[in-house]
Amino acid sequence: MTVPFADLKQQYESIKDGVDAAIRAVISETAFVGGRHVEEFEEAFADYLGAKHCVGCGNGTDALEIALRCCGVGEGDEVIVPANTFVATSEAVSAAGATVVFADVDPISYTMDASNIRPKLTARTKAVIPVHLYGLPAEMDDILALAREHSLIVIEDAAQAHGATYKGRRVGALGHAGCFSFYPGKNLGAYGDAGAVVTNDDEVAKRARMMSNHGRMSKYDHEFEGMNSRLDGIQAAILKVKLGHLDEWTDARREKADLYHEMLKGQAVTLPFRPEHSTHVYHLFVVRSRNRDGLREHLRRNGISTGIHYPIALPMLQAYRYLGHDATHFPVSSEAANTVLSLPMFPELTVEQIERVAKAIGGFE
Ligand SMILES: *Cc1c(COP(=O)(O)O)cnc(C)c1O
Repeated sequence: MTVPFADLKQQYESIKDGVDAAIRAVISETAFVGGRHVEEFEEAFADYLGAKHCVGCGNGTDALEIALRCCGVGEGDEVIVPANTFVATSEAVSAAGATVVFADVDPISYTMDASNIRPKLTARTKAVIPVHLYGLPAEMDDILALAREHSLIVIEDAAQAHGATYKGRRVGALGHAGCFSFYPGKNLGAYGDAGAVVTNDDEVAKRARMMSNHGRMSKYDHEFEGMNSRLDGIQAAILKVKLGHLDEWTDARREKADLYHEMLKGQAVTLPFRPEHSTHVYHLFVVRSRNRDGLREHLRRNGISTGIHYPIALPMLQAYRYLGHDATHFPVSSEAANTVLSLPMFPELTVEQIERVAKAIGGFE
């Protein structure tokens, strides 16, 4: 028995009829870009999150750039982002013309919290982007309070946290805007690239809709230069079908995570943090090991696929060498880069597969 890291094929097989019919409907209506299916998905996703507006766009990276620009972030502004995240979070800041400022993360949750942000504040700080990393909501109350105190814009990067809740509310609708990716491997994934900006602010929503569509509302009435980042009809129709299954898939992920927690108790790996007031949606199940590379190789030899999210803290990437950082500036993120290991995690994972992973981890050393 091998244990894959994820299995999108198996999920497709379970919803094939609905997905195939949705794709056929889009083609027969030639509703390829924008149109009914996009509107229906946007409305359903906003409802699901408890947000006022959802604006579909091309991908999660664009969603972040659009949200920043529509909240008035641009040249001369500093935006604080975690050092431990996917590069898209910081990339979008530069794309919006603003300056990237990295902050370290909390050593238990591995998300950026208010205490990481505070020392990075300057007179030019305009926004912060907390990331609900691996599916675990960042500590939003503290971040929102700090933001109010300093008049900062809060853009949530919820690309890994569809449906996760913080104190009973779904993430993505807690700050000024929330950004989602529907990349195929995400918890709610399309069959290609897709993304969305979510907001309760009418003006931000209106600007986001224009920004993503060449700065216009009607055909040739361009109020400003925007970009071309629209949601495809086919992707929206697929997402609408899949949204109906998201809670059931999230429950399945959480059950598998509980099993991992049970079976890995007492083993030489640190398990993910589970705060009482949040629901972690386990986009990734990330453990830590002092001999991470050895453990990874051991699991590979046992037919178990794993991942590393992420192997290099962002400030240490070649792309950010210009900032002149070294690992000592971000001790927690740098330690994470050397110790984190993502175990197989997807809704269809079986008890036997989890047992196999746990047994293999137990047999290491
Ligand atoms: C996937 C991801 C993104 C970017 O989404 P794309 O749709 O791939 O552009 C942004 N932030 C985080 C944390 C992600 O995991």
